[in-house]
Amino acid sequence: MEWGRRFREAAAVLLGAAAYTVLSWVPIAGPFISGAIVGYGVSGGFKRGMRWAALSAGMGCGALAYLILSTGILAWGGNQIVLSAFIGWVLIVYSAFGVLFASLGGGIAAADIGSIFRFGFPKGDERPRPDEIEYVLCPSCGHGRKASAKACDSCGGQR
Ligand SMILES: [Zn+2]
Repeated sequence: MEWGRRFREAAAVLLGAAAYTVLSWVPIAGPFISGAIVGYGVSGGFKRGMRWAALSAGMGCGALAYLILSTGILAWGGNQIVLSAFIGWVLIVYSAFGVLFASLGGGIAAADIGSIFRFGFPKGDERPRPDEIEYVLCPSCGHGRKASAKACDSCGGQR
């Protein structure tokens, strides 16, 4: 059981990371969707989905960084240090936002949707259910009555 859960989490994180490397070029929506994949896979609440989606997106960023560096896309700016640094910073900031939106998507997908919509709304009916009402026996006649009742509805005796 525990292993099945671990496997499901690992699969969701890896799938999310793969989705991130492909989708992260689409601003906001790409990371959000990849995060939502992770959140849907791990489920179990907003914070939990956020954590796993952030981890997954971080792995996706790592994979992207490896791809970019290994293919030498940045090499053409190699003798222009300022330009290389600028591109590097843009990629880092872009990745940071990517991870942010991925974790947001993961949190929303992992959250109990019902609890999000209930948030801020009062519960409809606060009256106790019949099985929550306490009953006592009347000391005069032995008739059952509600503990909150002032007088017995059988013999009229006060408590
Ligand atoms: Zn009574």
